Amino acid sequence: MGGAGEHEGWFRVSEPEPGVFAIEEPHHFERVASYLIVGSERAVLLDTGMGVAPLRPLVEALTDKPLRVLLSHAHFDHIGGTHEFAGSSPILIHELEAPKLRSGLGPEYLTKFYGPESLSGPLPAGFDPENATIPGVEPTALLRGGESIDLGDRVLDVLFCPGHAAGLLALLDRGRRALYSTDVAYAGALYAHLPGVDLAAYRETLATLAHLVPDLDRLYPAHNQRPLPAAYLSQMSRAIDAILAGRAADEARSDADVHRFDGFSVLVPPSTGAAEA
Ligand SMILES: [Zn+2]
Ligand SMILES: [Zn+2]
Repeated sequence: MGGAGEHEGWFRVSEPEPGVFAIEEPHHFERVASYLIVGSERAVLLDTGMGVAPLRPLVEALTDKPLRVLLSHAHFDHIGGTHEFAGSSPILIHELEAPKLRSGLGPEYLTKFYGPESLSGPLPAGFDPENATIPGVEPTALLRGGESIDLGDRVLDVLFCPGHAAGLLALLDRGRRALYSTDVAYAGALYAHLPGVDLAAYRETLATLAHLVPDLDRLYPAHNQRPLPAAYLSQMSRAIDAILAGRAADEARSDADVHRFDGFSVLVPPSTGAAEA
């Protein structure tokens, strides 16, 4: 299997501020990022990526602090490496996402994400897309939002942010004026068209987060470039308001209506079209 070095080509690690490591998967178009947040006493790993290359050796090379794994939600690209930490670190997730984490995913769902059109670099040698599997994991504890995680010199508040997923969580570091916005807010196309998305809840989440903007300097999103200016939250909140108020789509795709804004777009279910099977 080899050591962490063998898979350095799949992950790209940066340290956007001291104690915060962004672990990105840059060769897949989603450019998902997990975050390792290290305090003076403890550390949190926010999400575990796609599960394409071993993550735990990389994390253990970055910190030896007691680690908790907190999953923002159970979409495949955020839980892929969770099984590597089962039994050694507590695994935390919102109760509404726990069933998906428990059941895991197999190739019938995962293989389609690894076609050549999705990749800009080689997959790790040990990963076979035709047999891609994310093992189910039993969470250690269930979250609802409102919890605080004390890392020593840093406290993270868990925020319940439904919309993109029913049990989506974000992490707020008030002391350092940063929000780990996960899949609530990132540059690029916001996925609000997939099964399980609640657009009205997404609107409420963004309206609530927009109130935090004066207390924030930056966002650390789960996809694409980082950090983002906190003002994105207000812009996205206004964008979803406009869509729900009847804004005309800029493009009608078969799977989604596309609404374009400055620096991001929002995909919502097609207003017309065949009913889902
Ligand atoms: Zn997601
Ligand atoms: Zn995502």
